[in-house]
Amino acid sequence: QTTSRFNITDIQQVRGIYRPRKAFSHKGTFGHALLIAGSEGKTGAAVLSAKACLRTGVGLLTCHIPKCGYEIIQIAAPGAMCFIDEQKDHSSSFHNHVSTPEAAARFKTIGIGPGLGTAAGTCWALEKLLDHYRQPMVLDADALNILSSNPTLLNKVPHGSILTPHPKEFERLFGRTANDVERLQILSGNAVKRQLNILLKGRYTAMAFTDGSIWFNTTGNPGMATGGSGDVLTGILTSLLAQGYNSRDAMLMGVYLHGLSGDYAAAELSEEAMIAEDIVEFLGRGFQHLR
Ligand code: AMP
Ligand code: MG
Repeated sequence: QTTSRFNITDIQQVRGIYRPRKAFSHKGTFGHALLIAGSEGKTGAAVLSAKACLRTGVGLLTCHIPKCGYEIIQIAAPGAMCFIDEQKDHSSSFHNHVSTPEAAARFKTIGIGPGLGTAAGTCWALEKLLDHYRQPMVLDADALNILSSNPTLLNKVPHGSILTPHPKEFERLFGRTANDVERLQILSGNAVKRQLNILLKGRYTAMAFTDGSIWFNTTGNPGMATGGSGDVLTGILTSLLAQGYNSRDAMLMGVYLHGLSGDYAAAELSEEAMIAEDIVEFLGRGFQHLR
């Protein structure tokens, strides 16, 4: 039996989490992230996530991307390095990057899911990845859809990882609920039982932590109801984990910052005209507000 405590995030709390950079830091200080994303027709999701990850301050980023997205991501996000999958999907197995302890240790964290696709080979590779990688990671989008279709995989997700479903993905993962109260119970119940940090995206994104507490985010606007917004969030969260923020702080700060940058984008461009790239472009304004 878990009791949920309800809380609301605010700027003071996020300022307390945020750590300004020290003068003598170098790119090794800010971690190396591996982003596994994109497939034919969905390379844009990988681009948005990669750009957001870089703009949030990761030290180094490597993207595992199918061949068809290689040139696209190298041009769109030249700061990122690439592993190229020879297939249209991810079936030539991204798990190879972490299949030995030495290889896995290169990556402080992994973000997986945006535009990933759910091809059989990709599902197999995700299972292998979860067999090898034991650090907290970020799972979103098609990575969550793969977990939904193979529930035993959910048990293999490293403790402390962050899951970022929108309501449909949430329903696929944890089943239908009759109302919001029941949905929040299931959200926090799973966070405690599985020792995962799970956020449920929406107007007031609900973040459930392994201690049973639930936090609601207050930033963001309907201009963010546009394709790719969630992919940006995955990049932000992956970046913060890579920089050494713990999962809870990464989630509280990342979700707040994502909404805040979206609010700056809307103020400048309008809710209608803003697109997911603009959330990335306005991350700088978001960070300036945290200082
Ligand atoms: P996704 O559905 O994966 O693209 O994620 C959408 C993102 O945009 C989530 O982070 C949502 O919280 C955010 N978002 C969408 N609509 C709104 C809204 N009306 N108000 C605030 N945030 C929103
Ligand atoms: Mg999404």
